[in-house]
Amino acid sequence: METVADYFGSLVFNDNVMREKLPKDIYKTLRRTIAEGKDIDLAVANSVANAMKTWALEHGCTHYTHWFQPMTGITAEKHDSFVNPAEGGRVLLEFSGKCLIKGEADGSSFPSGGLRATFEARGYTAWDPTSYAFIRDDVLYIPTVFCSYTGEVLDKKTPLLRSMEAISSEAVKILSLFGDDVKRVITTVGPEQEYFLINKSDFVRRRDLIFTGRTLFGARAPKGQEMDDHYYGAIKTRVAEFMRDLDKELWKLGVSAKTRHNEVAPCQHELAPVFATTNVAVDHNQITMDMMKKVAERHGFVCLLHEKPFAGVNGSGKHNNWSISTDTGMNLLDPGKNPKHNLRFLLFLSAVIKAVDEYQDLLRVSVASAGNDHRLGANEAPPAIVSMFLGSDLTEILESIAAGKSAKGAQKISMELGVHVLPSFSKDTTDRNRTSPFAFTGNKFEFRMLGSSFSVSGPNIVMNTIVAKELRSFYEKLKGAKDFEQAVTDLIRDTYNAHKRIVFNGNNYSPEWLDEAARRGLANLRSTPEALDAFVAKKNIDLFAEFGVFSPLEMHSRFEILTDEYCKTINIEALTMRDMIVQEIIPAVSYYTSIMAQSINAKKTANPALSCKVERSLLEKISSLMDVLSERCDVLSSLIEKSKSHGGSELSHFCRQCIVPAMEDARKVADELELLVGRVYWPFPTYGDILHYVD
Ligand code: ADP
Ligand code: MG
Repeated sequence: METVADYFGSLVFNDNVMREKLPKDIYKTLRRTIAEGKDIDLAVANSVANAMKTWALEHGCTHYTHWFQPMTGITAEKHDSFVNPAEGGRVLLEFSGKCLIKGEADGSSFPSGGLRATFEARGYTAWDPTSYAFIRDDVLYIPTVFCSYTGEVLDKKTPLLRSMEAISSEAVKILSLFGDDVKRVITTVGPEQEYFLINKSDFVRRRDLIFTGRTLFGARAPKGQEMDDHYYGAIKTRVAEFMRDLDKELWKLGVSAKTRHNEVAPCQHELAPVFATTNVAVDHNQITMDMMKKVAERHGFVCLLHEKPFAGVNGSGKHNNWSISTDTGMNLLDPGKNPKHNLRFLLFLSAVIKAVDEYQDLLRVSVASAGNDHRLGANEAPPAIVSMFLGSDLTEILESIAAGKSAKGAQKISMELGVHVLPSFSKDTTDRNRTSPFAFTGNKFEFRMLGSSFSVSGPNIVMNTIVAKELRSFYEKLKGAKDFEQAVTDLIRDTYNAHKRIVFNGNNYSPEWLDEAARRGLANLRSTPEALDAFVAKKNIDLFAEFGVFSPLEMHSRFEILTDEYCKTINIEALTMRDMIVQEIIPAVSYYTSIMAQSINAKKTANPALSCKVERSLLEKISSLMDVLSERCDVLSSLIEKSKSHGGSELSHFCRQCIVPAMEDARKVADELELLVGRVYWPFPTYGDILHYVD
């Protein structure tokens, strides 16, 4: 019988295939160029392209595509066939090194934030050899980066690669002080992906889901998630079939899907892969999200990746597990087993603590979106305040160092740095606090504020760059030190003392934390517009410019794109809501009232003595609620009109302060009506129908 091992990675032009298909010297050169992050020369590219083409044709491919990640948050592709007409009506199947390395993309319809005028709209895509090419639907997919002709970045991938370079070179310098011979350092990421699966037959009847990805209306169903019976619960047969199918597709594409389970909310599930190099993890997560949607269709489902598709039950997030490893396989966030490793670990840990404290705002921006605004601070989700959980053991050790005492570790191991060994922090002792937005979990950090639909690129660009920044300043402080170990200990102590306000091991969901965080001076950027303003603060522009991750121009363009995206999202939601009220809810409710009125008349005609109390009271209640709904809808309409006179950042604040609350007001009445109007008269499936479907 065919096992997973037989088909895992079978659609990937991976290292094994390359070794088999490429001439030995070409293979070696390619490996070296990839490892050192150098440019590929054309002769090598030609040879690789030829091997790729042969392999792709053997697998039935007809086309290739440069696959890229523009600022839309999803991926983009344009297919070119291998076909080239030749003499005598024949055809040549061609794919050159040039086509592999560089592609042209008319980028005028991709968001560029003013970076590119339409007359010079063409951008180009360039092969990223650090992520393997793969096959989907008879097309050879080549992972690429996307730039403008003047070199400005137009995608989410280029800055990520730049940030990986930044942290690598800074970490390598620090490691050299420890006497570690390391050439490259890579960051690793394992994103846990949450999603909802609902019946397609329900989806197609809800225009809010179709246009906005979330429900804009919906009264709470009698049953939500209060019984805690869905989390890790038995998986419905159809869902299990979907998961089996999904895993298989992902495995063929070399995505190491590992865990799958039901999540807290009804219809909510999760998939987590084994972690990979950040660059690959980002690509794989995009493939995973795409594949979830595709495979769902095959099973009569629709996969919702919105952060908050349903009010009153959990939203969907994505946990970004992040760590730093050397090319020699050492995880630098693993406390290690000997004093030297301990010291190195504590130094890298200090860099992360300082980075998260100094750039809380950037981390917050990296998870800001209209969708995630519903989630941050809401039920079972991290608050909008960034803080760090280290666990009591690790905090105790840092506190002791900070106090200048010899530390007492968890297992009462007295520890003087450089002499005794740190206790190892098992996941059990570090992962108890599920409320923290940024938790140390044994040998990695878990950033939990990401929304489920996000590309994981943004948050990792920030993580890599801010930690690179701190490592650079650490290196400057340590490089000439006479007593290196003492200097490292002093630095750990000073850093912790200066930045320990960011460490919070308590319950992040408690109301007291809000006050405590304010006392500590931590940022609380409640919504996307507030967060976005912080993005272009001078310190943040300087940071990215210093490491060449974003130029100031690119920062401003991103600010513009993100602001625009936010405003457009709210505008689409507001318009959808208005249409659904006017075209669906009011007609349905009005029809129901007419039934009520007819019933009263019919009863009176049949027998004037009959009671019509119920009908009368319902008729009154529903009619007056309908008036309120209509008024609120008018308010919403006039705000939509008014929004047209605003623009840019001002518009985003207007959306947040005026349109979002007006939508909430309108929804409240509509949801009240839903509970009064006869079930068969309601114009679209309810929460009860959608979330508790019968298989
Ligand atoms: P939990 O739900 O308890 O957080 P999971 O097993 O669902 O745990 O997810 C943990 C994720 O962290 C997995 O994707 C795993 O591969 C990833 N991970 C483990 N070690 C590392 C590491 N060193 N760097 C990045 N990610 C890691
Ligand atoms: Mg987790």
